[in-house]
Amino acid sequence: MDNQDYEKLLKKAENVLSKSNMNQQRLQIPDPDVIQEGKATIIRNFIDIADMMNRDPKHIAKFLMTEFGIGVTISGKRLIINRKISADQISSKIKQYMDSYLFCYECHSPDTEIQKIGRTYVLACKACGAQHPIRVVSDARDDETTIEEGKEYTVEITKVGSSGEGRAFYRGFNIFVPGVKKGETVKVLIKRIRNNTAIAEVRDREK
Ligand SMILES: [Zn+2]
Repeated sequence: MDNQDYEKLLKKAENVLSKSNMNQQRLQIPDPDVIQEGKATIIRNFIDIADMMNRDPKHIAKFLMTEFGIGVTISGKRLIINRKISADQISSKIKQYMDSYLFCYECHSPDTEIQKIGRTYVLACKACGAQHPIRVVSDARDDETTIEEGKEYTVEITKVGSSGEGRAFYRGFNIFVPGVKKGETVKVLIKRIRNNTAIAEVRDREK
């Protein structure tokens, strides 16, 4: 190799580096906009954050659910976490997520994607081509981590309140079910959800 070749290589390397720097600068992840509502915590710009990262919101939601050990629900652009968590704690968990599932382990470019190769998941970098194995967030299926309005679930009534309404605790939610007895297992239809509380009606009873 003569000096000219080195010069060319150097130019190439500089180009690659400035591209990955640009990528990092272009990536403006908004700070999580966190509010407390009752016993729940809401990230109001959750989908915006996921969009900026170019990651599946469900993947980030699962990560937070696993890390905080509590049920979460995506509702419109927001993420509802069924417990009081400070904005600082959320910011630091999101940073942790980005370190594990966004920035390339080699060149730190955010221009990456999660790929499944055989049985393992890797973080594949589009900037430098590096592939780094990553930890699977959770094996739980999406619909096993939360409840949704208009869907049916089988729950056990563990309590009956003073005005006769049954209560079930399920996937981090307090579900109120009128017209049931304590200890009954019933199939319910979720009518309304607000924060970590839901109202349901009985669809079927276990005989
Ligand atoms: Zn890279």
